[in-house]
Amino acid sequence: MYVIGTAGHVDHGKSTLVEALTGINPDRLKEERERAMTIDLGFAWLTLPALRGETTGVIDVPGHRDFIENMLAGVGGIDAALFVVAADEGVMPQTREHLAILDLLQIHSGVIALTKSDLVEADWLTLIAADLAAILRGTALEGATVVPVSARTGDGLPELKAALQQTLAQRPPRPDRGRPRLPIDRVFSLPGFGTVVTGTLSDGELVLGAEVEILPAGLTALVRGLQMHKAKIERAKPGSRVAANLVGVEVSQLRRGMVVALPGQFSPTTFLDARFRHLAEAELPLKHNAEVKLFVGAAEVLGTVRLLNHDSLPPGESAWVQIALAEPVVVANRDRFILRRPSPGATIGGGVIVDPHPKRRHKRFDAAVIARLETLAEGAPGEMLLQALEALGPAPLKQAIEKAGLDGETAGLALAEIQEASELVYLDGEALVVSRAGWTKLANDLRATLSAYHAAHPLRAGMPREEVKSRLRLETKAFQAIIAQAVEIGIVAASGATVCLASHQVKFSVAQQSTVDVLLAEFRRNPHNSPSVKECAARVGEAVLNALIEQGALVQVSSEVLFLPETYQTMVERVQSHLRAQHKITVAETRDLFSTSRKYALALLEHLDTQGITQRVGDERLLKAHDNFYHE
Ligand code: GDP
Repeated sequence: MYVIGTAGHVDHGKSTLVEALTGINPDRLKEERERAMTIDLGFAWLTLPALRGETTGVIDVPGHRDFIENMLAGVGGIDAALFVVAADEGVMPQTREHLAILDLLQIHSGVIALTKSDLVEADWLTLIAADLAAILRGTALEGATVVPVSARTGDGLPELKAALQQTLAQRPPRPDRGRPRLPIDRVFSLPGFGTVVTGTLSDGELVLGAEVEILPAGLTALVRGLQMHKAKIERAKPGSRVAANLVGVEVSQLRRGMVVALPGQFSPTTFLDARFRHLAEAELPLKHNAEVKLFVGAAEVLGTVRLLNHDSLPPGESAWVQIALAEPVVVANRDRFILRRPSPGATIGGGVIVDPHPKRRHKRFDAAVIARLETLAEGAPGEMLLQALEALGPAPLKQAIEKAGLDGETAGLALAEIQEASELVYLDGEALVVSRAGWTKLANDLRATLSAYHAAHPLRAGMPREEVKSRLRLETKAFQAIIAQAVEIGIVAASGATVCLASHQVKFSVAQQSTVDVLLAEFRRNPHNSPSVKECAARVGEAVLNALIEQGALVQVSSEVLFLPETYQTMVERVQSHLRAQHKITVAETRDLFSTSRKYALALLEHLDTQGITQRVGDERLLKAHDNFYHE
């Protein structure tokens, strides 16, 4: 979804061109029609085939200098400019002023329409085009395509559409940050509908039926209807022109500049930290505490501009400023704004917000304040924190903040920023954090490591933890946290000493299974005089034997002796009950108890010693003192 905004001097043919392109007369007010001059924003739309058949909104702004402030309400949300210069008049004062505004707002996409081409000779067009190239140099629109066009004859219209299409197709889609905001540029009521607001949606989707908040007024309403370009929709995407029918608010409560958002996602502010560029064409230096009019989104608010490291700012220079506003506005980090002198009205410059919610009125000429603002402007603190996290791998948050070199306040902003973008994964409660990308990489490495291991050792239940840890090159704490998280989300299963993919199962081949069946049958026939480890290995192979032991299909009690688990269990219980009755047992007694040989009896008792069940005293075994049964 894209929006194009017109710009250019009054009477240069903007509205006529929009109508020629879209078939819609954008001049909406009767007064305008009568005077044949755009004094407020006009809206139209067109379909450009290369843009996936989506309709593109067109905002027609007034060119007359008396209405420049209306122009600012529309130009904030545009993707590309349709910059209009009449071929017969060439560059005029508002041509320059609009260009300066587009440059301050950093609108880099655009097409220059050299209108009324029917009124001039071809040579003249070439001269004007050269003139234009010169004034565009060094601005955000430098190098934009110039297309001679006549709304009267239709010459150049296809070329103009193609150029618009090309410039828009190069733009990335508007980001969806999951927090929609619709700066209101029109409010009206329609019979049978009630209150309708329009605007260019950014940062998220607006959905039919949503409960919304209108800020800074703090009103709540319900979205009963949504339209884009007069068509009903259920879901509006970021970057689209939206008309929303709101229930629960009156037209009289709303005005241009307010913002429709989801409840609790934005809070109004009356203080802004920003980077400001003073226009080179400005007449006078900008003084500290000068009165200004701020234009941001569709809002227009009076305020004063505090120069944080200048006494006064000469035209053409940039500075860190704190703007104190007379009324609250709803803005986000990175929003671009324009400042005008209130009277006599003149554009003095503009810039970008680096902190929409500074905690205090900053001290001036303070190196720490400036350094913090530079950090905020440079990388966006969230970006810096993410980079630190990516460099560190799983780490305590505090360590990442230190590495990123962020102070407490900036760190808070950074954290909010990356949490909002779901870029943070907490591990081990909140003891450690890892970036989403870092986590994805670790999880992938873990999967790859384990699946390689399973492929190499299909009969092993899992990979020894220590081996996994050294393969992933992690510290113990981070490793444990990663495994715990991977278990929790079902990627892996972990037993005491090994880790395996959750999907891993030890499977014997048909041939292996039949040797296993024969062997286990032998164990069942002679439970107490069972086949030795050596014999088992010879019959089923070492790997299969290990798998049987790992699975618990056989219990190994010594380097030579194995039992079935049920045999083992009853043997342990019988030794224990013998001990409870007789208080002691010898190897010979054990041998007789199970009608087995001394080898098995000795192996079992030695095993019970190591298990802490029995205790050897001379030639006899006693129940170990801490045994639970003993105390009961
Ligand atoms: P805007 O103030 O920039 O929106 O200018 P308008 O669209 O209102 O046009 C101003 C005047 O220029 C009107 O009288 C139009 O009829 C005339 N005009 C617009 N486009 C053309 C064109 O391509 N050729 C000629 N000859 N006149 C035009």
